[in-house]
Amino acid sequence: MLKDNILEVEKRIQMACDKAGRDRSEVTLIAVSKTKPSSMIREAYDLGIKHFGENRVQELSVKYDELNNEINDVHWHMIGHLQRNKVKHVVDKAVLIHSVDSLRLAQMIDQEAAKKDIICDVLIEVNMAKEDTKFGVFEEDLWPLFQEIINLPNIRIRGLMTIAPFVTDPEKNRDIFKKMRELYVDIKTKTIDNVNKEKTGVGRNFNFDPGLFNILSMGMTGDFEVAIEEGATMVRIGTGIFGGRN
Ligand SMILES: *Cc1c(COP(=O)(O)O)cnc(C)c1O
Repeated sequence: MLKDNILEVEKRIQMACDKAGRDRSEVTLIAVSKTKPSSMIREAYDLGIKHFGENRVQELSVKYDELNNEINDVHWHMIGHLQRNKVKHVVDKAVLIHSVDSLRLAQMIDQEAAKKDIICDVLIEVNMAKEDTKFGVFEEDLWPLFQEIINLPNIRIRGLMTIAPFVTDPEKNRDIFKKMRELYVDIKTKTIDNVNKEKTGVGRNFNFDPGLFNILSMGMTGDFEVAIEEGATMVRIGTGIFGGRN
């Protein structure tokens, strides 16, 4: 079952890339393994999946301990809402935190990363549809937040993430993905300008490299093809790979 699902998802990713004239290597598949046991993740790993997404720190830590002792190229992505008091358990386990949406959270990540002497890669989560059931900053608050976080020395902002509304027709999310891509390009352009101007203000954080601001995490089982067509560089697919969750 797992094998067929992965092949099917792979085929659909490839088709979306073809349709958009993009290379398959531009899109990283993150298999969202929340609620699924380590044995199943190991199976997916053996079938070629290297990136896994979890939305709870506790679960990510347990699975990290179970799998990363044996194999070192299992990469964990923290994709769920993160509480400040849990940050210390995840900064050195996740390769990327997708869900930064406040300065307070970013400061905590920076502090814990500094203690461990690492630089933590993060994405800023945007609540594009302004749904009150979702976390993330509103579009209009993104640039101010970005400018604050960019000066934290132990954080590196790598891009943006969004969880689009739940829809049955993925076309309904196309505009959201399009707008995300515009925001992303806009930030990239602004920071390149600033970094070139001077090492003060935006971009004085030496860890910020506009060239490494290159991740757009969007698209899930129900809408990943549209997200890829609109420029996603990471798709987060759970049900499509592991089947339904309880
Ligand atoms: C659960 C989850 C996913 C995967 O959802 P599916 O619809 O099962 O593909 C993706 N992103 C986030 C943030 C999630 O919490």
